[in-house]
Amino acid sequence: MRHKIKIVVGCVLIITGFLATNIAVGQLTSLQNDTRIKCSGIVIDGGEKTVGRCDNEYKLAEKYETDAEIYEDIQDNQFSTPIIETMINDGYLLGYVDQLKAEGWIPQDFTPAGSKTSNTSSAEAKTETPAETPNETSTSDNKQPEKTEKNNKSETKTETKKEPTQEEIDAAWEETERVEATCTEDGKIVYTNSITGDTKEESIPAAGHDYEVTDTTEAACTEDGKNTYTCKVCGDAYEEAIPATGHTEGEWKVTKEAGLFSTGSKEVTCEKCGEVLDTAEIPQTCPLPLAAVIGIVVAVVVIIGVIVVLVRRRKNI
Ligand SMILES: [Zn+2]
Ligand SMILES: [Zn+2]
Repeated sequence: MRHKIKIVVGCVLIITGFLATNIAVGQLTSLQNDTRIKCSGIVIDGGEKTVGRCDNEYKLAEKYETDAEIYEDIQDNQFSTPIIETMINDGYLLGYVDQLKAEGWIPQDFTPAGSKTSNTSSAEAKTETPAETPNETSTSDNKQPEKTEKNNKSETKTETKKEPTQEEIDAAWEETERVEATCTEDGKIVYTNSITGDTKEESIPAAGHDYEVTDTTEAACTEDGKNTYTCKVCGDAYEEAIPATGHTEGEWKVTKEAGLFSTGSKEVTCEKCGEVLDTAEIPQTCPLPLAAVIGIVVAVVVIIGVIVVLVRRRKNI
């Protein structure tokens, strides 16, 4: 019987030893591969927040983990309240102080002792959890919030009693009324000083009309044209006459050729509108009038006749 008991005890010891070495190796590999601390220790005490499973290893957590990861570890019951307070005092978890208070991990009246924000691990936390960085700054600012607020109040009370400086009065002018300028009428800006209640005006000069040509009637040879100008801003309009251009004389054109004893005619027209501007007579091509030519011919015939008669009479004699 004793022999059997010894064998059983031996087996139990071997199995427990094997398990213990496995756990140790697991811890080592997890530490090397991942910076996360993985505690596989046993919770000694039943109290959740008085004893943490990884209290002994919080230094490692501070060194290798970001604030967010430490916070997760806390949620996993790995650290007790005194250790959490120590880590906050070391400058970690500053962004989670309010959350930890709300969840009961640390007492409500706890205030962090140190403010080591320029730490590598907290810097990592900043980059990894950007949404929670405002908390960090706000909590660091809220170390003594009530006292500072009271101080501020008393300061503002005393400030209002003081006479405002000239610089403050100069900076207190605000625009309270504005009348925009039109094309023809000036506008104005009314400034009121919020400290003294004084007002002052600044005029906005009238901009003047901004006309553009909106309609054009071209001028003709004899009739005026016009341009219509309209203001782009207010619609005011006026017309401006374009003077008639007048006819443009073209070249003279012959309308009837002149004959030997008959006159011809010619005229000149406007190049643009074709209106006949002037006409003229073309003289006959023969310089002598028809009657004179006939007279000459008759006279010559008569002379020749007389000469012939005279010559015949001499032959007969
Ligand atoms: Zn106008
Ligand atoms: Zn014309």
